[in-house]
Amino acid sequence: MGKSGGWRIQVKQSTNSIQVDISLNLAICNSTINKIINLNQLGNAVAKQLKNTYQVSYLKETCNFEIVRSGLDNFPSRSMALPVRKLVTVSVRVQVRIISRANQKTDNEHLLNIVPDAGEMVGVYGRANDIGGNAVKLNVIFVSNIIKGLDRNTIPHEFGHTLGLLHVNSHYAYGNDPRQYFPVKKQHTKDSTNVMFSGDSRYMHDATSTAIVPRQIDVIIDNYRSGNLNK
Ligand SMILES: [Zn+2]
Repeated sequence: MGKSGGWRIQVKQSTNSIQVDISLNLAICNSTINKIINLNQLGNAVAKQLKNTYQVSYLKETCNFEIVRSGLDNFPSRSMALPVRKLVTVSVRVQVRIISRANQKTDNEHLLNIVPDAGEMVGVYGRANDIGGNAVKLNVIFVSNIIKGLDRNTIPHEFGHTLGLLHVNSHYAYGNDPRQYFPVKKQHTKDSTNVMFSGDSRYMHDATSTAIVPRQIDVIIDNYRSGNLNK
């Protein structure tokens, strides 16, 4: 597991179900001179929007393993895979702490930092520091739309990058993690509302690009288990 971020993921399997608990410890900081923003309201919006996108349930084709004893001397027991359909339920918990300077973020937190509309952030809504990273910058001029719920994409999208998610329509995903790539035909079906379309895609809409697919949940769990999150 990574050492310096706020994502924790637990997966509990039973015979018929899989419970995925995703939790985020988040420090929120306003590094601009605009002190009108209500950071508690922003924290509530972040929690609500992450739940809206990632708190899903679906059926998954998988296997239970059963030990079958041979009953004969010299013949070992063997493990048998029995196909089963399990109900996957993902729950999301977000714990917010308001800080006054970005360097007050602790090792078990992610940072959400409000920054001026300047430099690399001119006209940019938000930016994750890395795929699997531990910090997201938000452009101050777009924060009020997030609090109002007019923009329900930027938060789950940028935090999606910190969960290791790539743009579903990018050649980079196609080349580096084909599981995450949506072929053009898939892009304009019910999957057109996916949260991880790039900003220049015609399917990207602030208010409605919020959906996630089961395969992306699989990717997130794999990333966590292999230590590729909280970097
Ligand atoms: Zn992106």
